[in-house]
Amino acid sequence: MDLFFDLKSKKIGYSRIGRMYLSSKERTYFKTPNIVIPMTNTLMGNINFLEYFETHPIFFITKQIFLKIGFLRDKFRNTSFIYSHSGTFTRFKEILDENPHIFSQNNVISIIPFNIPTTTIDKDFAIQEINEYLHYAKSVLDSYPNNSFGVNIKIFDYSELIDLYIPLIKENKNIKILNFADLFDNLSNFRAILRVMDRIKHELNNNLVLMASGRLIPKYYPLLIYLGFDIIDSSYMMYLSADNFYNTTEELLPVYKLKELPCPCVACSGKLKDLLQDKYSQEKILLLTLHNLISAKIYMNKITQFLDTEDYRSFLEKTTHDDPLLYSSLKILDKEYFEKIRLETPISSSNTIIRCIGPISYYRPDFQEFRERVIRNYLPEQWTKLIIILPCSAKKPYSESKSHKQFYKVIRKFPEFPDFQEIILTSPLGAIPRQLENIYPVNLYDIPVTGDWSQEEINITARMLTKLLKKYDKSIPIICHIKGEGYSSIIENVVKEVKQKFYFTDVDDNLTSKNALKSLEEKIKTLKNNTDKDLSPHTLFTNTWVRKFIKIADYQYGIGLGMKLFGNGIKMRRNRNKTKLKIIEQAKDEFIATFDLNKGQIELTIAGADLLFSFIHKLNYLVFDGEKIKGSNLFRPGIIDFSPNILPQSNVIILNKNKQKIIAVGNAIVGSNNIKNIKRGIVAEIYEKL
Ligand SMILES: [Zn+2]
Repeated sequence: MDLFFDLKSKKIGYSRIGRMYLSSKERTYFKTPNIVIPMTNTLMGNINFLEYFETHPIFFITKQIFLKIGFLRDKFRNTSFIYSHSGTFTRFKEILDENPHIFSQNNVISIIPFNIPTTTIDKDFAIQEINEYLHYAKSVLDSYPNNSFGVNIKIFDYSELIDLYIPLIKENKNIKILNFADLFDNLSNFRAILRVMDRIKHELNNNLVLMASGRLIPKYYPLLIYLGFDIIDSSYMMYLSADNFYNTTEELLPVYKLKELPCPCVACSGKLKDLLQDKYSQEKILLLTLHNLISAKIYMNKITQFLDTEDYRSFLEKTTHDDPLLYSSLKILDKEYFEKIRLETPISSSNTIIRCIGPISYYRPDFQEFRERVIRNYLPEQWTKLIIILPCSAKKPYSESKSHKQFYKVIRKFPEFPDFQEIILTSPLGAIPRQLENIYPVNLYDIPVTGDWSQEEINITARMLTKLLKKYDKSIPIICHIKGEGYSSIIENVVKEVKQKFYFTDVDDNLTSKNALKSLEEKIKTLKNNTDKDLSPHTLFTNTWVRKFIKIADYQYGIGLGMKLFGNGIKMRRNRNKTKLKIIEQAKDEFIATFDLNKGQIELTIAGADLLFSFIHKLNYLVFDGEKIKGSNLFRPGIIDFSPNILPQSNVIILNKNKQKIIAVGNAIVGSNNIKNIKRGIVAEIYEKL
């Protein structure tokens, strides 16, 4: 089988949506991530199994009986099979020889088997086992150059042994699937798992299909998908069924404990209930297997739905609360692999609410990237004379909330309001300059607003506020219009670190009461001219959107570039359904960018990108192998160079072959690391070209 994989969409962490094609001729494919269902004689003898899994796209087979041409070409013509052999190496080669057409032309791909040692082994013995396997695998790969294969990867709990496999995988183009057979047998060694995944993701072709097998239960699936696995073998469910375990997704429960079956599947609504107490019933084991496989598949359907259209990270976070090991694994991944995973994670999204449910959300890679980028790229407006610190609101963007509308009314009474810098404090994102309230993830996150802050939330926000305030002149006064212990603790931490003077408004019961707002007004009145800084004029930038666009462009493209784009004055036009703002350069009356209010992202036109041409080394760019792009997608083979920091879904500029000219603008599908490591598939979607 001529199997291959295309990456279609990159999601948070290492997670990805892709397509597995069975053959380059027939173009039949199925979507990944997906679950691989075991096919056995017993299951095939059950009408319910056949009915339920009739349209399932991928099965795992170990028996030669399923390798019959009639079977494969008839009912299962558009289905793919992964064949794994459990006997000796010699017998495996014989089977390949006996069925030449099955493996080269039909829908079966075989995984080169690994003979499993039965006793626990030490590292030297593991190395010996692996070397023997590699030697044997090499001879198979060389003998059948036109067949696609999967290879089994076993690390025997020594993560560094992954290095032994890498040369073989790099050298043999007919390896299409990497099956990790024992990586998850010891989840408590999660650091080892991450070391292996990191090597795989950064060293090897990202068009390889990653398969997880071994002792996997459904509650691990969301994390496996987050780690970048495309297919998950569910065969272990058969062993668990034989041991009388019932899958509830959260846990596997011994079946004798169940009083009512919490599932409406064909097994549970049928005879299974009557057989629960029957210890040795073969029929019970079969029905239990059926339930366990169906429930695993349903769970995978749910996972892929959330991956496709919702904020997958909050779905994953919820599932980690079922298991301390999953929880700590995700924490380790966030803290120790951020520098790697940031290049894999989009920081833009359309209309999906991000729910933050607790400490596990604080260090999501997109949140960390947001905080670090604001700290790095935020440049104070030169004319700022006063800083006003405000609390966040449940409604987003903040300025559309009731409380912020009240604050606005007071602040805008002063004609010099553009001289005031508002900063909003929020958990777990940190300190947000008003100008950035419309971008991802500020526009989409949702947290329970209880007023209680944990020490870690206080530290995150205090650290970010300190870094921002250090960018300002020390003579600029700071007004704090806040209430509550959490906010006060943040300011207490920050006061020790910065040179500016802090002033607090008088707040009685709440921040929007008549007296509190009056106090805010008084404080502004007395402090607005207190700075001794020599200030530049701001006449051009009284418009709030102009101020926002300049800062958003700095955030997206690099410090100072907002002024290059919008500093000469702009006009704006909203589209009909008010989802986009068209940005037009005033003097030349030229359309230079669009701001997408749902995505919270600026998208440059070619004319806009041309304004930044002399800074191209700072920007995200792709170099096309030619002068003119056909169609609206840019594919990997057409790209000869690219900048190192592209994130998935970010705005990219496309240059011609000799980098002399901008020939198109678009949005990346995948980030720089993927571009480096893929050989095929779409890299960017073009929305304007020459
Ligand atoms: Zn069921």
